Amino acid sequence: MSTVILDELLAYVGFEAADAERLRALHPALQPHFAAIAERFYEALWANPRAAAVLSGPEQTERLRLTLIEWMSSGLLGPHDERFYEKRSRIGRRHVQIGLPQHYMFTAMSVLRIAYHDRIVELYAPDAVAPVLGSVDKLLDVELAIMVGHYQIDSEQKLVSRERRIQADRLAAMQTLTAGLAHEVRNPLNAAKLQLELLERRLRRTSSDPRLLEPGELAQKELERLTLLLNEFLAFARPPELHVDDHDVTLIVRQVAELERLAAERRGAELVVAACPVQLVANIDAPKVHQILLNLVRNAIEAVSAGGLVTLALDGNDDRVRLCVEDDGPGIPEDVRPRIYEPFFSTKEGGTGLGMSIVHSLVSLHGGTIDLDTGPRGTRFDISIPRRAARFTGVRT
Ligand code: ADP
Ligand code: MG
Repeated sequence: MSTVILDELLAYVGFEAADAERLRALHPALQPHFAAIAERFYEALWANPRAAAVLSGPEQTERLRLTLIEWMSSGLLGPHDERFYEKRSRIGRRHVQIGLPQHYMFTAMSVLRIAYHDRIVELYAPDAVAPVLGSVDKLLDVELAIMVGHYQIDSEQKLVSRERRIQADRLAAMQTLTAGLAHEVRNPLNAAKLQLELLERRLRRTSSDPRLLEPGELAQKELERLTLLLNEFLAFARPPELHVDDHDVTLIVRQVAELERLAAERRGAELVVAACPVQLVANIDAPKVHQILLNLVRNAIEAVSAGGLVTLALDGNDDRVRLCVEDDGPGIPEDVRPRIYEPFFSTKEGGTGLGMSIVHSLVSLHGGTIDLDTGPRGTRFDISIPRRAARFTGVRT
């Protein structure tokens, strides 16, 4: 990686073997002046209060002066290879760490460049000066590019980690809110279900008139739907803690298939379990893996039309368990894809948009990965989790 960047920089400025040769030849002539050049460099730095603010005092300056001399020497001598790049990178990172504003990189390099130029003009015959100055400029620009690059890497890293933090905070707030709401809803919902059942039983004793029974049955169906939603909300809100034990994943797959077969049939679709070992024991959190599969299978069923097919598959090796849920539905449109793991994001009327966000957090909890392959001929989710739960966080998707 690092050599790729270095090679790119060297190629960009047209740094060639002849340049390296000229710089090596310059070294013995310039070496006696290194101390004076370093002196001038730190004079300029001390003269600038804001740049000098990052220095702690004379002792540090002395140490840095020696580093600078070493830097001048190794820059001229080369080789301009991986080690050269690593050394410059360390210096760049250090400047970022101590908080030197990056524009001082340019001014500081300018001081050095002028000092080099002054000496070179004195040392070389007038007609030999130009190529040497050219080689020096190429070197110093590459040096600058490497060091300034670290400011960008740093600010990108900060941006990414801030973005992650904001997302995690937002998620936690949503989970708290959802948990509170779901718990409030659960008791009255259960009470209503119970009362409705009572009412239905009493009605059946006195009458078999469907006009009396039907509204109750419909209300019960609605309450069932509400319960499903509530369970999804609770799964989203539950604090994610992993309780692992040895479980047969084959059993989980078969259970989910049994549970959802009816829903598939109601749609006129078929749910099949393909390629499933007789037994596959893994050290996992079984209810969570169950939930992962259930959410994926539900989405798959909801995606297919009549005559469609949803396929569940499982395989594994010594290290990992792979769960695969595939459907022949219309696929996930490109603009929807990046959002499917967002809580509350749904393209369905009445969807909670929580299913995939739960999948993501539970797979992540298992230290697993999610691979998505989707197109106009269908969608396949591949979940891979370690056979022995390692407590990773973060998920690769
Ligand atoms: P919900 O199912 O409530 O909409 P999910 O979080 O389960 O929420 O899914 C989010 C969105 O991802 C869905 O609304 C849908 O647009 C998309 N999606 C997920 N799985 C599939 C699939 N198998 N086929 C097509 N779209 C899917
Ligand atoms: Mg869903």
